[in-house]
Amino acid sequence: MDDLPTELERLQAGHLLRTRRVRSSAQEIEPVIDGKKVLSFCSNDYLGLASHPRITERLVRTASESGVGSGASHLITGHHTSHHALEEELAEFMGCERALLFSTGYMANLGVVGAFAGRTSVVFEDRLNHASLIDAAVLARARLKRYRHLDTEELQQKLEAVSGHPGLIASDGVFSMDGTVCPVKRLQEIARVCSARLVIDDAHGIGVLGPHGKGCTEGRLEKDTLVVGTLGKAFGTFGAFVAGPGDSIEWCVQRARSYAYTTALPPPLADAARAALQLIREEPWRRERLHALVGYFRKCAAEQALPVTASVTPIQPVMTGSADAALRLSQTLHEHGILVPAIRPPTVARGQARLRVTFSAMHTETHIDRLVETLAKALQPARTNHDETSHSAT
Ligand SMILES: *Cc1c(COP(=O)(O)O)cnc(C)c1O
Repeated sequence: MDDLPTELERLQAGHLLRTRRVRSSAQEIEPVIDGKKVLSFCSNDYLGLASHPRITERLVRTASESGVGSGASHLITGHHTSHHALEEELAEFMGCERALLFSTGYMANLGVVGAFAGRTSVVFEDRLNHASLIDAAVLARARLKRYRHLDTEELQQKLEAVSGHPGLIASDGVFSMDGTVCPVKRLQEIARVCSARLVIDDAHGIGVLGPHGKGCTEGRLEKDTLVVGTLGKAFGTFGAFVAGPGDSIEWCVQRARSYAYTTALPPPLADAARAALQLIREEPWRRERLHALVGYFRKCAAEQALPVTASVTPIQPVMTGSADAALRLSQTLHEHGILVPAIRPPTVARGQARLRVTFSAMHTETHIDRLVETLAKALQPARTNHDETSHSAT
């Protein structure tokens, strides 16, 4: 890779060059992107909290009292009463003994996996796990064994084949590009039977799934399971946490390198997340509305025979196959003022490119009608062509 211009051209030619759009408004349903107002179906702000005034006010108030910077890591002088209170509130919310804050979900995964796995460990991961969980196993220098998506039988076989080594199972709760949900009960059972530790990264589940928004583990979380959550998605703020048994969390304080060797989150952000947690608890209508909208989209998509998947979460992939087709579909939507970026390799496997549509409680049925109509029209020429080809072939 010494010839960067050539490599970059190759990415461009393969429709794999990533570009950034510049947003100049708040994160909302109709943000201003590259100077133009668009209808967005791609944020992870599932509950519409990213620009909620109560959260902003709380952040500003704490900033005016405590300043912005933490000045040091949690283990030196960075740990503030706002962080401490947030950890206690998150632990209570998740029904766990303790919770520990990290700066991002990416860092939480690096920290937690690294605290419990080392050179002699085997880490078992679902093939579609988030990049941060894969990187975490690599960085821990553990042996990484990946099993087919949601295939707990293959997981169990792989675990049995390496018995004697300390094992750690890591799975996304809600898979970020597919919207599928991990088999929580079965994973916990396997972890128990095989004496492996289980980490569920519920970045897209917490705030969204379960009657109270506790995520995919709500009502069935076993004592030894560790749950990672982010504050950057449904919470609409920034930061992350891991929740679990007190001794496991204490071990993370002692051993998680991405906890110890980095500056603590700004205290105003911790208080902003506390305000978000309060809204998640007090306003279940946001979650209910979100699920009603997902149901409405699925009904309309079925009527138009759109290439959607079986996902029932607010992550609704529209499958295109090639990166090129995904890019073209995304561009057509953009011409109609709708923002849904194409997801291409290496984020997903080759031939699995897609538009990743996500919903927020702030969308309306009218927004969804517009999305479905535009998708149906954009996909029509491709279908007609396809039909013509198959006719002429017969
Ligand atoms: C977004 C995401 C993360 C990373 O969380 P950040 O707080 O954004 O760093 C981790 N795991 C999964 C499954 C995610 O989707």
